[in-house]
Amino acid sequence: MATRDEKKRLNQIAELGCILCSEVFGEQVFTDAELNHVRRYGAVRATSPCLPLCPEHHRGNSGVHGLGVKGFEKKWGISCEKLLERVDQKLGKGSK
Ligand SMILES: [Zn+2]
Ligand SMILES: [Zn+2]
Repeated sequence: MATRDEKKRLNQIAELGCILCSEVFGEQVFTDAELNHVRRYGAVRATSPCLPLCPEHHRGNSGVHGLGVKGFEKKWGISCEKLLERVDQKLGKGSK
């Protein structure tokens, strides 16, 4: 179960809007970001890092689930790890 701090952090992430839209298009093309949990080996879902993605870039044909992580990174020319770094920067923290 998520603690209050975790929930607050997740809300802050979602409020950033789609990280791919802002990185690739420089603006929010779609609103209402959804949180995509980035899977890392050995990490449990509750503590895995999250990317805010709009519905299209999350579940759509050009999204991380539609294309798969590899296809998604290739199509947009940016890695999920890089996007996570940008999320951390936008939240005002270092990447680690
Ligand atoms: Zn997007
Ligand atoms: Zn997802």
